[in-house]
Amino acid sequence: VKKSTSSINSNLESNSTPQKSGHIVSTSKTLMEIEKLKQAREERRQKQAEDRKLLDELNETDRANFIYHQLIEQFRCDFYNKVESSESNQEINDDSTIQICVRKRPLNEKEKSLKTFDIITTKTGQYPNSQLYLHEPKTSVSMSKTIENHEFYFDHVYDEYSTNKMIYLDIAKPLVENFFDGGKVTFFAYGQTGSGKTHTIFGPSGGKLSNEVKDSTSDNYDKGIYEYACKDVFKKIEEKFEDNTDTQYLLSLCFFEIYGGKVYDLFNKRNKVSMLEDKNGDMQILGLKEIPVESYDDLQKLLILGSQVRTTGSTEANPDSSRSHAIFQMTLYTYPKGNTDSKYSDPTFLLQQQQHVGIGGSTNNDFGLNIHGRFLLIDLAGSERGEDTGNISRQARIEGAEINKSLLALKECIRALHMARKSDNVNHVPFRGSKLTQILRDSLVGKNCKSVMVATISPSSKSCDHSLNTLRYANRIKSYKSVKTVSD
Ligand code: ADP
Ligand code: MG
Repeated sequence: VKKSTSSINSNLESNSTPQKSGHIVSTSKTLMEIEKLKQAREERRQKQAEDRKLLDELNETDRANFIYHQLIEQFRCDFYNKVESSESNQEINDDSTIQICVRKRPLNEKEKSLKTFDIITTKTGQYPNSQLYLHEPKTSVSMSKTIENHEFYFDHVYDEYSTNKMIYLDIAKPLVENFFDGGKVTFFAYGQTGSGKTHTIFGPSGGKLSNEVKDSTSDNYDKGIYEYACKDVFKKIEEKFEDNTDTQYLLSLCFFEIYGGKVYDLFNKRNKVSMLEDKNGDMQILGLKEIPVESYDDLQKLLILGSQVRTTGSTEANPDSSRSHAIFQMTLYTYPKGNTDSKYSDPTFLLQQQQHVGIGGSTNNDFGLNIHGRFLLIDLAGSERGEDTGNISRQARIEGAEINKSLLALKECIRALHMARKSDNVNHVPFRGSKLTQILRDSLVGKNCKSVMVATISPSSKSCDHSLNTLRYANRIKSYKSVKTVSD
C-alpha cells in the first residue's frame, strides 16, 4: 500500500512542479491548478493526434479493431466507475440445487498475435454482484462501428485472474461436504473447445504428466478442481476413520467417455461397455471397471492413465477429447468397521463381489457395502461441436447432431428440474432425451443432489459467436434477466 501511494505522490509532484523544464515552482495553488489543466489538455491533444496518425496508418481491419477496442474501453471506464457505488448488500438466499458460473480465461498468445481483442467485461463475485458483458462488434448500415452490449448475471463470475483454487474453494468444496453427507453431486464444465474446461477440471496439464509442468507438486501450482477435491476427500476419509463410529469409508473410481451415444471405459483401453435401464429407470453400465483407491497418489496415477487413453490416437473410432463427454466418477461406500473375517474387511474383495457396477441405484448388497455418496466431474464435449457449421463431413455432422442432442437434453433437464423442484414433481423431466442425461438422471434427481456448472469462455473477439452461445446456454438454465444495449 505504501509503495503505491508514494508513486502517486511523486507523479503528482512531477506534474505540478515542472522542475525539469526549468520553471520556477509556483506556490500559488490556483496557478498550479491552471498549469495542471493546461498540461492535461496538452497531453490529451497530443494523444488524439497520435491516435489519428495511428488510425491513418492502419489498414481497414486494424482500424475497425481499434475503434471497437476504444468503444469497449470507454464502456469499461464508465462501468467500473459506476460499479463501486452500486454494490448490493442484499443477501441472496439461494437454496437451488444448481449453481451456474462463468469463467473467462486470459487471451492466449495466438489470440494476441492475431490482433483480436478482449470483448468480455466482468464484475467478479457472487450474485447479485456478479455481472458479465459481452461486447459484440457490429457494423451499422452507415458503415459506422458499434458494439452491442449483452448483459448477463450468473451465480458466480470469474475473470481471467481467477485460479482453479479460488473456484474450488467457492463452489466445489461445498460439493465435497455434500458428498460425505450422502449426496450425489456433479461438477460440469461446459464451453467451446479451447475455452478452459479441461484446465478447470483436470488442471493446466489436462490430467497428464508433462515436462513443461515441472512444479506441478509445488503449492503455487494451480491444480485442477479434481486434485483439490480428491485431497479433501481423502482427508475426510481419514478423519472419519479416527471417529469412534462403526462405519468406515471406501472410495472407488470409474472414468469413462460418452461418444456417439455409447460409453467407452477409459480405465479399460477404451472398451465399449453396454448400458441397461433398470426397473427404476436408472441406467446401469455393465462391466465398467470400478477401481477402489486408498490414497491420493493411487488416484492420481489412475487419472493420468485414463487421461492418456482419452487423448491418444484421435481417429473416427477414438475421438479427440473435444468430441466426447468425459465423466470421472467417485463413489463413496460405507461398510462396517472391524469385520472379523479379513476377507470381508478387504474393500477390493467387497467390490469384486458386486455382479456389475451400476452407476445408478443405491444398492445394498450382502457384503455390507453401501453406496453413500457419488461425485461426478464432467468435462463436456466442445459446445461448438453441436452447432450447425455447414460445410463438414458426414461423420462430423452425425457426431455434431449427437453432441447437440445431448447438450440440449442436458439444458432441458436442468431447466425442468429447476421448475420441478418448486412443484415437487420430477416426472416430466426429459431424461430420455440422450444417453448423457439418462446416465446422469440418478445424480440430478433426489433430495441430496447438487450440481455446479462452470461455463468457460474465451475473451477473444474471434470467439464472439461461440461465447455468446455459451452464455445464452448457461443463462437459459437459470433464466437470469439478460439485457442488451448498443453503444457507438
Ligand atoms: P478445453 O478443455 O475447453 O478445450 P483447455 O482447458 O484445454 O480447453 O484450454 C485450452 C488452453 O488454454 C490450454 O492450454 C489451457 O492451459 C489454457 N487455459 C485455459 N483456461 C485457462 C486459464 N483460466 N488460465 C490460463 N490458461 C488457461
Ligand atoms: Mg478439453
